[in-house]
Amino acid sequence: MAETAYVALGSNLEQPDLQLQRAVDDIDSMPQITVAACSRLYRSDPVGPPGQPDYCNAVVAVNTTLAPLRLLDALQSIENAHGRVRSVRWGPRTLDLDIILFGNRCIESERLTVPHYQMRVRNFVLCPLLDVAPDLELPDGTLLQVMVDELGYQGLNVIADRYPWF
Ligand code: ATP
Ligand code: MG
Ligand code: MG
Repeated sequence: MAETAYVALGSNLEQPDLQLQRAVDDIDSMPQITVAACSRLYRSDPVGPPGQPDYCNAVVAVNTTLAPLRLLDALQSIENAHGRVRSVRWGPRTLDLDIILFGNRCIESERLTVPHYQMRVRNFVLCPLLDVAPDLELPDGTLLQVMVDELGYQGLNVIADRYPWF
């Protein structure tokens, strides 16, 4: 049975806006994964080590028949195809694909924590997530809209509205 998952996309290297647009197409091209909805495209202030370029961020809703770890495998293969190199933690990257939510599941394993452990404090995740799922509740019943109202849109700018962004 297909389940709905939410994937956050981020990039701050090598034409981040185009990286993200290509990544949405790449996700949709994967077997057993369909992109059901795509957020607006955002530019955001970098977090992590100082002196990095700004980020582009977005969120997609996907329908998938893959198990959560197999979805992670698929997303990591796309990150690798985009030349992702893991050096400094939270350092600059061509593409980051994080599973934010997977249905109503709570997952704690060596490779995968869902809901994503930082989602509640990242407006560059919550705000695009609200674009694709305005009525969403977290597994613990927290309303997404309430979290967005608390965090606000500081440091975020919408740079393109409707997918395809370019
Ligand atoms: P952050 O997790 O703070 O956003 P990051 O995305 O830069 O940092 P990565 O280098 O992309 O971190 O991933 C590090 C590891 O996190 C991955 O190897 C993966 O196994 C693990 N991981 C755990 N939970 C998730 C998740 N929900 N989505 C994606 N990766 C996850
Ligand atoms: Mg990340
Ligand atoms: Mg990641």
